[in-house]
Amino acid sequence: MLSLAALPLGVRCVVLEPDPLAPARLCAEHLRAAYTDAAGLERLAACDAVTLEFENVPVEATAALEGRVPLRPSPAVLHLSKHRAREKAALAAAGARVAPYAVIEYAGELAAALSRVGGVGILKTSELGYDGKGQARVSSLDDSRAAWERLGGVSCVLEGLVPFVREVSLGVARGPDGSLAFGPLAQNVHRDGILRRSVFPAASSAATHGRARALAAAVAHAWDLTGLMTLEFFELSSGELIVNELAPRVHNSGHLTQDGGGVSQFEAAVRAALGLPLADFEPLLPCGMVNILGWQEGREPDWDAIDRIPGTRRHLYHKASRPGRKVGHVNVVGSSIDEVLSRMDAVEALLDG
Ligand code: AMP
Repeated sequence: MLSLAALPLGVRCVVLEPDPLAPARLCAEHLRAAYTDAAGLERLAACDAVTLEFENVPVEATAALEGRVPLRPSPAVLHLSKHRAREKAALAAAGARVAPYAVIEYAGELAAALSRVGGVGILKTSELGYDGKGQARVSSLDDSRAAWERLGGVSCVLEGLVPFVREVSLGVARGPDGSLAFGPLAQNVHRDGILRRSVFPAASSAATHGRARALAAAVAHAWDLTGLMTLEFFELSSGELIVNELAPRVHNSGHLTQDGGGVSQFEAAVRAALGLPLADFEPLLPCGMVNILGWQEGREPDWDAIDRIPGTRRHLYHKASRPGRKVGHVNVVGSSIDEVLSRMDAVEALLDG
């Protein structure tokens, strides 16, 4: 989707990705090699800028490019955002509130951590977790010992449960000159730890929206971001925001910017990476997005029925369908938020079969 957004700007992308079925092969020059492949990195070093849509590339790959080509976001930002404990400490240092947490390096630390977060929490691996993977809800010491074993006995954080009224997210792009552009404050609904749908505008107050922008700006400046990142927040009943996590890239909740009018998050990311002028990438119309998860054999959704719902656009990723895997999304626009929500309900009902 980054490659697709780059084309109308006169920009072509080169993608280094070992998966022979990488969706980007269809619209970019695909270098089918490991992230650390010397020839592949050489080709990337000859580009105008390098960005990522996946933060878990090996440090050796980014280290090999450093100083040869602008890397946006920088290796320093990637270093902070790929590790939950480091990320939380750096967010707090930038003035953001995070959930109460404790770092777990060995089982003996679980008891004190559990009492620190109030006896109930979510144990999350420090690295490589996504879509609810690498985490477990725990409410006793036995629970947390078993969960830590199941997670592989690796470095984890135990987070206290946040009594949020809603989950929202906000993208921010920052150019090499320090200029900022903000994406929409999207409201997100998860099911089984996986994002199910996002809606814009969020039901949050204008004051909360302002807080989200101020926090995103503070973190972007403190971390000296060049590129695009997305902050995920828990909103409390007071309207205060707690940062759940940060993605140093375009984000699933920002996919709705493709069809709400205006600049998409993908175009904003390309612009920020190349140092092109930035503009806010908040949609002009109320809109939403419903994720398409892989279906069971023989239960492919009725695409024609989805296409017939007014204001919908399908985005399929050309990925093999596996149950639970994100294989596409449907964007929905409407003239009012109520219209968007009822169209999204219809889309979701069709996707659920
Ligand atoms: P994560 O992978 O950390 O984004 O977690 C996935 C989802 O689990 C979040 O979007 C929340 O719905 C829920 N969740 C994660 N951490 C917490 C927390 N500390 N308190 C309450 N809910 C949480």
